[in-house]
Amino acid sequence: MLSGAEDALAVVHEHILACTACPLHARRTQAVPGTGPAHARIMAVGEGPGESEDRIGKPFVGAAGNVLTRLLESIGLRRDDIYITNVVKCRPPGNRDPEPDEMEACSSFLDAQIEIIRPDVILILGRHALARLLPGAGGITALHGRRMMRGDRLYVPLYHPAAALYQASLMRTLEEDMQKVRDYLDEAAAQRRARAAGRAAPAAGSPAGVPAAGRGTDPEAAPAPARDQLSLF
Ligand code: URA
Repeated sequence: MLSGAEDALAVVHEHILACTACPLHARRTQAVPGTGPAHARIMAVGEGPGESEDRIGKPFVGAAGNVLTRLLESIGLRRDDIYITNVVKCRPPGNRDPEPDEMEACSSFLDAQIEIIRPDVILILGRHALARLLPGAGGITALHGRRMMRGDRLYVPLYHPAAALYQASLMRTLEEDMQKVRDYLDEAAAQRRARAAGRAAPAAGSPAGVPAAGRGTDPEAAPAPARDQLSLF
């Protein structure tokens, strides 16, 4: 049985697959909604499908996708645990940049995906995703690898993996930025554990070493993070 978020995400995917709101639909083989769990804690947002993605129907399955997978694995993340999508869901012809009106026509889909998944962390892949997700924040050259908090959500702008295929020096920068992502995730996990330990601290007057009431049933109060949190953070 699907959860509410899985159901809602499946509906958004159906709408994307049938969308004709901008001219990109006319030349696509198929739209590329996104892949990954509806309950993913981390989301990655790229620019738009390329030739391989248009043919296969999944994001980041070509050469740039291989780079993305390797970068995620370099910091202990499994690609399958991450929800991956793009700013535009149909391939711009010849892999040109998406036009502003195409991004605008697609914007409600990305908004809905973020609203349903509610990720803790969004990895922003490249300048188009940066302009879409953090408008006015600055350019990718200044912001790559930086921790950007918006409310409870952490955004990390990164160079687009495809850029590293064309400019070798950017690969090193991307690898270094991914290590920073690892540090941010570790710090977030440590803070969460500290908050949970604070909540689980014995109440005044209760004997030291006696677990606080309800600790056994409150996952936040457990001394170690749950397995799925461990694998991501
Ligand atoms: N580049 C992107 O931005 N997205 C993809 O899905 C593939 C390549």
